[in-house]
Amino acid sequence: MTASLLTKIEEVVRSGNCSGCGACLLLDSGLRLELDENGFARPVQREPSAAVPNADATFAASCPGRVVRAQRPLGSDRHPTMGPVVASWRAWAGDPELRRAGSSGGALTALAAWLSETGRAARVIGTAPATDARRTIPIAITSRDQALASAGSRYAPVTGAMPAAGGATIGTPCRISALRAMGPPHDEILLSFLCAGTPSQLATDQLAAELGVTGSADQLRYRGNGWPGRFEVQGADGSGSMSYEQSWGERLGRQVHPRCKICPDGVGESADITAADLWEADDRGYPTFADADGVSALAARTVRGYELVLAAAAAGVLVIHPLRVEHLAAVQPLHEERRQTLAGRLVGALLAGRRVPRYRGFRLVRLALPRWRHSVRAARGTFRRIRQAT
Ligand SMILES: Cc1cc2nc3c(=O)[nH]c(=O)nc-3n(C[C@H](O)[C@H](O)[C@H](O)COP(=O)(O)OP(=O)(O)OC[C@H]3O[C@@H](n4cnc5c(N)ncnc54)[C@H](O)[C@@H]3O)c2cc1C
Ligand code: SF4
Repeated sequence: MTASLLTKIEEVVRSGNCSGCGACLLLDSGLRLELDENGFARPVQREPSAAVPNADATFAASCPGRVVRAQRPLGSDRHPTMGPVVASWRAWAGDPELRRAGSSGGALTALAAWLSETGRAARVIGTAPATDARRTIPIAITSRDQALASAGSRYAPVTGAMPAAGGATIGTPCRISALRAMGPPHDEILLSFLCAGTPSQLATDQLAAELGVTGSADQLRYRGNGWPGRFEVQGADGSGSMSYEQSWGERLGRQVHPRCKICPDGVGESADITAADLWEADDRGYPTFADADGVSALAARTVRGYELVLAAAAAGVLVIHPLRVEHLAAVQPLHEERRQTLAGRLVGALLAGRRVPRYRGFRLVRLALPRWRHSVRAARGTFRRIRQAT
């Protein structure tokens, strides 16, 4: 690896802005993602360096710990908080087994199976449990069975070596924004999901231990087998399960990476297609989490994504019904609020002495103005939290 690529990566890690997305692993095959002492993934050099040409410049223009750009693809309309949309739908997998296994409607699993089995992508990069199922690793999906095995959200950092891309990638919004910024050959078919942040691995390990699994786990699911489904773990020394509200709401969701708290793009704007939970909402717009057959919201961000969704629906891979993007925004209050108060949180972080990435084109100040009191509160809260932590 060139010294300057490693130096640049280390600067991002030191600044606290490395989300552990793993995109830089595509720039040098000597890099791996490993857990740090706080349970978050960060890149380290473990094999002899083999950097691609112009790795430094590509990193500088694409690492989401340095820069994230809002997207305005041809043919899309921009929603202020949900990002660019060509069309959106309520959707689920046409195959009932995939629908049940998925986090919400199994739409991403169905797309991964279809893309790989029809040869639209030689491989789809996704994630799966490691041998110790408390850990999450990247995998290359080449068949329906592999897609099924990788179904469901993994609310934890992904660690290990990154398989070479093969036509499509499913990833967190930060990883997908990096791939889009890298350009060809990395801007393959890009699939993402709404993301409230990546929790620390320590949160998963604590949850497993609370349920009686203190050592390696044979199986661990965060969700699925119903909607939203339960956190389930099984190991040599025990097994147990916990509701989604308790596991995500009270544990995992409270231990997300600090970089995720100042993320401008929890909605996956750089993807071709983004999936989300299409929760039923109460009177205040907050999700009810009542168990039901899973339903995803899908947003096609690009014309390529739009054509893929229509082709998948025509093949019976997806069941789709039109959805107004305003409906999605209404049942995702956290993402609305996050974008509207992000300018405040960035000011708080800067005043507390923290370096923040550059965010381009999100119009954060314009979004913050109508709710400026919330932004001031968010600035104060961020300032206090950072100062207390240092
Ligand atoms: C960290 C995290 C935070 C999330 N936050 C929100 C949120 O705030 N709001 C919301 O509506 N939805 C959120 N989701 C997404 C949601 O949980 C569902 O994944 C989404 O509804 C898509 O459901 P699906 O049934 O179509 O996906 P599935 O059919 O279950 O497919 C999910 C695909 O994503 C891949 N995957 C799972 N975890 C990861 C990961 N950590 N990194 C990369 N790829 C992964 C899997 O390999 C699989 O292929 C989050 C997901 C994650 C992993
Ligand atoms: S944010 Fe992603 S691309 Fe940037 S250093 Fe961290 S892992 Fe690498």
